[in-house]
Amino acid sequence: MSGPSFERAHNILKAQIDAPTAAFFSSCVNCGLCAEACLFFSETREPKYTPIHKLDPLRKVWKQEYTFWGKLGRALGLSKPLTDQDLADWETLVYDGCTLCGRCSMVCPVGNDIAYMIRKLREGMAVAGHAPAGLVGATTRAIQIGSPMGVKLPALKAQIAHVEEETGLKVPLDVEGADYMLLLSSMEIMNFPEFIGAVTRIFSKAGVSWTISSQAFEATNSGVQIGVSDLAAELVGRIVAAAEKLKVKSVISPECGHAYMAIRWEGPNLVGRPFSFEVIHILELLDTLRKEGRLKLQGKETERLTYHDPCQIGRRGGVLEQPRNLLKEISENFVELPEAGKMNWCCGAGGGVSTNERANELRLKAFGAKKNQLDAIQVDGMVSACSNCRIHLEEGLEEYHMDVPVLSLTELIEKHLAD
Ligand code: SF4
Ligand code: SF4
Repeated sequence: MSGPSFERAHNILKAQIDAPTAAFFSSCVNCGLCAEACLFFSETREPKYTPIHKLDPLRKVWKQEYTFWGKLGRALGLSKPLTDQDLADWETLVYDGCTLCGRCSMVCPVGNDIAYMIRKLREGMAVAGHAPAGLVGATTRAIQIGSPMGVKLPALKAQIAHVEEETGLKVPLDVEGADYMLLLSSMEIMNFPEFIGAVTRIFSKAGVSWTISSQAFEATNSGVQIGVSDLAAELVGRIVAAAEKLKVKSVISPECGHAYMAIRWEGPNLVGRPFSFEVIHILELLDTLRKEGRLKLQGKETERLTYHDPCQIGRRGGVLEQPRNLLKEISENFVELPEAGKMNWCCGAGGGVSTNERANELRLKAFGAKKNQLDAIQVDGMVSACSNCRIHLEEGLEEYHMDVPVLSLTELIEKHLAD
């Protein structure tokens, strides 16, 4: 990234105001309903975490640059223009105090997409140099090394070798003409390599033709999280190039929330053209295999289990039905969290918050929303489909002294593969 520049940031913010953004700002009736829907407000009760308030710098640009009264007020010196200090003052609200979870939009009476606009505000904040150091570091590593955690190909190959030894199965690498190309998040490679083993066994049983690309195996997209579209496009472009080189029909987004949003929903817009392949979430594929009779399962969990919907996969990604179909096949005591599905509460660590150490205390406080959900149903285990959620749910549970194991749905499915 080039050096910070407020002037460039201001121009970028002006350019970010598209028709939906202008419509959202002009239709806001200042009802404040979005506040109670946001975990940062509900758990701190601090008015500064009201979702629409977090957008004040962008709203100021919209008003002064695109509305008659705003232009007049600025010309008469009645309102102050946006300053670099305004952006500096908003940094913690925009990066630490928002996970881009989109829950606030579900209650807004005029349907304002706050997460969409926070993402736009981050475009200016990052260029002005007001993005958290942890996220800047992760983005730099993603661009320079190919992974926000600095995971290189030899590390992936070492994990693949372990999986092959353990399963006795081949993990396909760079197989041209395979049907599916699997992406992995760095967190899966380093913290949860069991996921690679689970997928290998499942795909072997179901007869899926698949591969991993050594050129582009990383699913995550720090460019989307920090809010720099050029970098986000560069990361998506690498996946597109690898998928096209291998001539795959589909790219599988793994158990990672924002990766799915980045490649499935933002990807074609970022690179400026439709993909020549389909993008599918691992849970969508597993449920399709189940429906086709290729994923045969046996036995059921008897313990009381619930499901945490990762925001970008469920509420914003639309993958709501598939995890439930799968869970009902393998669990006889499945119970929904209160406000599950579209209204589920975020784990508190999405949208780049997990890579921002400064936000740790706030994130754990915001976890209170998840704690309240869990307290209401008293389960023996919680299943999810995002490694980032998983690691931060575990941290939150530890912080609140709660003994609830967090499980991967893909790994649980593998456990129930029929002989
Ligand atoms: S997107 Fe989520 S975290 Fe961000 S303001 Fe809305 S409810 Fe709060
Ligand atoms: S809920 Fe919607 S209309 Fe009400 S204050 Fe929030 S953004 Fe504005």
